[in-house]
Amino acid sequence: MTATRAWGATAPTATLEPFDIDRRALRDEDVAIAIAYCGVCHSDLHAARNDWGRTNYPFVPGHEIVGTVSAVGAGVTRFKVGDRVAVGTLVDSCRHCDACEEGEENYCRNGSTGTYNGKDRIDGSPTFGGYSAGIVVAEPFVLRLPDNLDMAAAAPLLCAGITTYSPLKNWNVGPGTRVGVIGLGGLGHMGVKFAKALGAEVTMITTSPAKGEDAKKLGADHVLVSTDKAAMRAATRSFDFLLDTVPVKHDVSPYLFLLDKQGTLCIVGMIEQMEPFHSGLLLGGQRAVAGSGVGGIAQTQEMLDLCGEQGITAEIEVIPMSGINHAFERMERADIKYRFVIDMATI
Ligand code: NAP
Ligand code: ZN
Ligand code: ZN
Repeated sequence: MTATRAWGATAPTATLEPFDIDRRALRDEDVAIAIAYCGVCHSDLHAARNDWGRTNYPFVPGHEIVGTVSAVGAGVTRFKVGDRVAVGTLVDSCRHCDACEEGEENYCRNGSTGTYNGKDRIDGSPTFGGYSAGIVVAEPFVLRLPDNLDMAAAAPLLCAGITTYSPLKNWNVGPGTRVGVIGLGGLGHMGVKFAKALGAEVTMITTSPAKGEDAKKLGADHVLVSTDKAAMRAATRSFDFLLDTVPVKHDVSPYLFLLDKQGTLCIVGMIEQMEPFHSGLLLGGQRAVAGSGVGGIAQTQEMLDLCGEQGITAEIEVIPMSGINHAFERMERADIKYRFVIDMATI
């Protein structure tokens, strides 16, 4: 075991603070990673505050991890010391159910092991996330980071990236698809970039008119301010696919009106009870409300490779580790352009 510096929470109401955690001694299939950067996902904040009611403390967030390999176990074949690697939201799964065999470890029938707030499948120890100097992960869950990508700006690809890329791919978004991305934060801005990269006509749907000025930079064709009732009415039935990244309980009805017939609103944001909505909004036009949770390991690698080929990364604000509590406060106010990334050299 190696004592490793980390930042985490000891209670739902506590601010994040430094303490040491144990990282396990390398098993044959393990890769030890020196973490260079870790993105700050809104899920980190939800989990630190116990918004979902199942956080175990002490809790160390962080599942947008990039770094370099510092050691490998005897059985590791794909990585060597010094390689640029990445880890997302999963560090293990049962590896034998149909979902795992089809590369959908994120939907493992026996429950995948989260990078944080999970339980190691072998020794039952708690998993701690990437707000930490290092991490030990089994080789099948370690990803290759393309050489040309800036490490800090690539970190958010590991959750915000795959969480938006996966549904866009799975719902066959491409040329001719009219896509709206709701909520311009970490997930949303990557959703805009990927929808554009896939050839769709893309609209940013935001509550923050000021963010609209960035629309072109991010690649969006249009901006729709969701608090502007007239603009929302004018956009009735003009979308095929809506990606809903809103992180709080909300009413999807105003967005369902935006869907054309057979359109789908896919929830990737709020993971809790939602406001009720009228079923007529689904029946009229055969609309669907769907959901999607991160993505499998193979699809995550596919996404990273595409980002390498097309030079896609996140828009980031690099912060020192000590800035995390302030970053959480800003995230709660939607004051974010568009992802905080922690420089782990400052831990
Ligand atoms: P984020 O960076 O904080 O961005 C969320 C954005 O939603 C805000 O910037 C804001 O954009 C908009 N928003 C905030 N409050 C709103 C409200 N009351 N009504 C309408 N829009 C609002 O969060 P994130 O990291 O992208 O995460 C978003 C959500 O996805 C979180 O709940 C997170 O837990 C969840 N998540 C899910 C998965 C998954 O697998 N499905 C993976 C990662 C994260 P505007 O200013 O543009 O309105
Ligand atoms: Zn996340
Ligand atoms: Zn499985």
